[in-house]
Amino acid sequence: MKESFKVAIVGAGPAGISAACKLADNGVTPVVFERGEFPGSKNTSGGVLYGHDLERIIPDFTDRKCPVERNIVESRVWYLNKNGGYSLSYRDTVFQNNCRHNVFTIGRAKFDRWYAGQASRKGAIVVCGTVITDLLRDKNGKVTGVRTDRPDGDFDADVVLLADGINSPLAAKTGFRPEPSPEHVALAVKEVIELPENVIEERFNVEPQNGVTIDILGDITCGMNGVAVIYTNRKSLSLCIGANLADFSTNRIKPYEMMETFKEHPMVAPLIKGGKSIEYMAHWLAEGGYDHIPELCGDGYLIAGDSAMLFNALHREGSNLAMISGAFAAEAILEARENKDFSKQSLNGYVRRLENSFILKDLKKYRRFNMFLQKHREIFTTLPEGFSFAAREMLTVDGVPKKEKQKIIWRNLRKNHSLTDLLCLCWDALRSV
Ligand SMILES: Cc1cc2nc3c(=O)[nH]c(=O)nc-3n(C[C@H](O)[C@H](O)[C@H](O)COP(=O)(O)OP(=O)(O)OC[C@H]3O[C@@H](n4cnc5c(N)ncnc54)[C@H](O)[C@@H]3O)c2cc1C
Repeated sequence: MKESFKVAIVGAGPAGISAACKLADNGVTPVVFERGEFPGSKNTSGGVLYGHDLERIIPDFTDRKCPVERNIVESRVWYLNKNGGYSLSYRDTVFQNNCRHNVFTIGRAKFDRWYAGQASRKGAIVVCGTVITDLLRDKNGKVTGVRTDRPDGDFDADVVLLADGINSPLAAKTGFRPEPSPEHVALAVKEVIELPENVIEERFNVEPQNGVTIDILGDITCGMNGVAVIYTNRKSLSLCIGANLADFSTNRIKPYEMMETFKEHPMVAPLIKGGKSIEYMAHWLAEGGYDHIPELCGDGYLIAGDSAMLFNALHREGSNLAMISGAFAAEAILEARENKDFSKQSLNGYVRRLENSFILKDLKKYRRFNMFLQKHREIFTTLPEGFSFAAREMLTVDGVPKKEKQKIIWRNLRKNHSLTDLLCLCWDALRSV
């Protein structure tokens, strides 16, 4: 049976649902196809989301019982070696008890379901348990709909939005995006550890409803280009650790072994002590950056979110980039609908919007960042111990004059790094951010 719909959206993640909300707000009834049994059932993220960007889609999201876990009042950054590490943090009462101010934690299974529910209430149709296996095209190559794995067949559409995430083979299969190479994808594992609310509040020194994020770098990723995070939820902690996919295959390190080492680290173990593991998953992250963004639209289609490589690794912004790109795609579709023209040229308003926004401006600014981490392996191998040695020396009172200690520190650092290496590191770091 052939059905005719105006707009088909592949994927009920943040990108697809944001586009659906925008379209439904403007009187269009989009159909969102989701392969999971419910939105969020196949999705994972560390779990921070930005109020500013959600507000652009659902202005009254707090009144609509958005499943917020905790408002983040403090952000910490750790640089770890085997025995300890540096900690830098910033806390501000301006973020207290109000997730509209900035960033909060969510669980994707709950959030995506709630978000898709908002789109449905606005009038979008969300069809779960349906895989889009291919795109339909006319003789000129223009996309004219989607092919599903359902027995009742194909869906015609004037325009298709690919919001199918980084793990989907669809964009690659259709040739709209090359299969991401292992250098441009990270593999992350996430474990959720259940703890009583009051224990989390004591361990992180926060009031009820408030929380902390910790972003972690150092030799915790076994010398590979990667990061770890700890985020506080209401009754659990999310722990994620990941690294470049190419590094995993070169180093033959298993992601779950890396997670176990991470959990045993002396700065991590006390935070999760007595907790119960309640969730475990693995997912890819889109780390190609600005230079690996595919063609963002063509005749009859657009690509948004992770599928379009819109991920800012340095600021761990992915869900919000997905939301805003989805909303921009919807606006461009509405414009094209006015003109009754769904050609690439007519849909190009999407690209213009992205270019004029923080999304492409930020990705362009950080285009060298991944390359910087790939090049300077010392950040994950020798530097953590070199810096820790420096801190230990300066903090240990043992009768050695401080000037002598500075010389010892410098000599120790120079054992593994020449002056040129260190200058090159500083120069590349400055250029990459
Ligand atoms: C471990 C980890 C931690 C992260 N932490 C954060 C964080 O703290 N903050 C942040 O902002 N971002 C974070 N991210 C990134 C964030 O999760 C993504 O950027 C975001 O989910 C992208 O949204 P999306 O809608 O583009 O894709 P997705 O969320 O991946 O959604 C795509 C949807 O499409 C569906 N789908 C795919 N193919 C098909 C098909 N053929 N047919 C039908 N349905 C299909 C999928 O099931 C899925 O529901 C993290 C990612 C990972 C892996």
